[in-house]
Amino acid sequence: MKESNNCSFCGRNIKQVNMMFNGMNAKICDLCIINGYEMINENATTHSSFDMSKITLHKPAEIKAFLDQYVIGQEEAKKFLSVAVYNHYKRLIHANKNKKNPDVEIEKSNILLVGETGTGKTLLARTIAKMLHVPFTIVDATVFTQAGYVGEDVESILSRLLQVADYNVEAAEKGIVFIDEIDKIARKGDNPSITRDVSGEGVQQALLKLLEGSIVNVPPQGGRKHPEQKFIAVDTRNILFICGGAFEGIERKIALRLNTKTVGFNAAKKKDQVDRNNLLQYIAPHDLRSYGLIPEIIGRLPIVTYLNPLDRDSLRRILIEPKDAIVKQYIKLFEMDGIKLQFNDDTLDYIVDKAIEFRLGARGLRSICEAIMIDAMFELPSLQVKEFTVTVDYAKEKLEKADLGRLKAA
Ligand code: ADP
Repeated sequence: MKESNNCSFCGRNIKQVNMMFNGMNAKICDLCIINGYEMINENATTHSSFDMSKITLHKPAEIKAFLDQYVIGQEEAKKFLSVAVYNHYKRLIHANKNKKNPDVEIEKSNILLVGETGTGKTLLARTIAKMLHVPFTIVDATVFTQAGYVGEDVESILSRLLQVADYNVEAAEKGIVFIDEIDKIARKGDNPSITRDVSGEGVQQALLKLLEGSIVNVPPQGGRKHPEQKFIAVDTRNILFICGGAFEGIERKIALRLNTKTVGFNAAKKKDQVDRNNLLQYIAPHDLRSYGLIPEIIGRLPIVTYLNPLDRDSLRRILIEPKDAIVKQYIKLFEMDGIKLQFNDDTLDYIVDKAIEFRLGARGLRSICEAIMIDAMFELPSLQVKEFTVTVDYAKEKLEKADLGRLKAA
C-alpha cells in the first residue's frame, strides 16, 4: 500500500505544512501539535486546583523575624508588611472554608510603602517572596501606559502573576503583586483636566480596576492586548497588592500640611515634636493626594507605611549583618580558595563614609567593595596565601586608584 503523505489528524498534505512527524501507523503535522498543546494548556488553566491546606500560616512575629535576617532596620514597614501578609493568608483560608455559606467577608488591605530610593522597599518585597507559598511577582509601574498608547497595559501585571503560577488561575487569584515606583504614575501638575496625561491618571484608573477586585480579562502572554488574542479571566478580589514608591519631594507637602495644622487643640506641643529630618514618618493619605494619586487609588491602599533613610549606623550594619551581607559574601568567596579573609573595623567605617560621601546609599556599598577587592580577588588565588586582612590603608589605596568618577555616576 502506498504510504500517505497526509496528516492523520487534519488531513493536510505534507506540502501544506512546515513539518510532518512520522509515527508507527500515523503522521501528525506541526499545526496539529500546536493545537493539541494549546488545548492541554487551556485545560490545565481551567481545571487545576490550588491546595489551600498546604499553606503554612506563619504568625506576624515569625514573618518579621524572617525579614530581620535580611533587612536592616525599617521596623515599622516590616511590622505592617508582616501583618498584611498574615491577614492575606487568613483571609484566603477563611474564604476557602466558607465558600458555600459566606458570613463575614474579610476585606483585603493593600499596602503602600513610601521611602527614598535604596532604602529597602524592593528588598522587603523580594525577601517576603522567599517565604511565601502563593504566587508572587514584582512589576514596575513605569512601563504602564493608558490603553491605546505605546507601552504595556496594566493587565499585564496579571499576566506575570499567571506566568509564575504556571497558568494556574486559581493560584494566581490568591497571589501577591509588588508594584514598584507607583509614584511615577501620579498625575503631573495640579490640573486634573490635562488631556493627554498618558502615564498618569489614565493608568491610575486602569490600575484601580485591579485593586478594587474585579474580573479582568488577561492576555496570557502580557504586553499589549490585540483583538485575535484569547484572554484568561482572572478575579482580582483576593490578590494582595503591595505598592512602593519614593515620592520624591513629598516631604514638602507633608511639611505644608503639618504647618497649616498648627492651630487648634494641642497644636503647639505637636509642632515641637515634629522630626524635621524624617518627615516621611508623618505621611498621610492627604499628602498622597496632593502628590497626584487619585482618591480612589488611595482608598484602595488603606495601609500606608514608610521606610527610614539609611544613616551611617544602618549602612554599616548592612555591610556585615544580613544573612547575605556583602562582607559575608567576600569571606565565603575567599574561603573557597582556602583564604581566611578579614575586614578591619576602620575599613568598614571607611567604606560607609565613602558611600555617604558619594551619596550612593546602600546600593553603593557593593560597588565600593568591588573596587577595593578586585585586585585581591584577581591575585590571591594564584598565590600561596592563607590569610588576608583588608586594612583601611589598603582600601584607600585601591579605591583611590579606581575610577571614582565612574563609581559616583553609578
Ligand atoms: P528601593 O527598592 O527602596 O529603591 P532596594 O530594596 O532595591 O531599594 O535596595 C537596594 C539595595 O540596597 C538592596 O539590594 C540591598 O542590598 C541594600 N539595602 C537597602 N536597604 C537595605 C536594608 N534596610 N537592609 C539591608 N540591605 C539594604
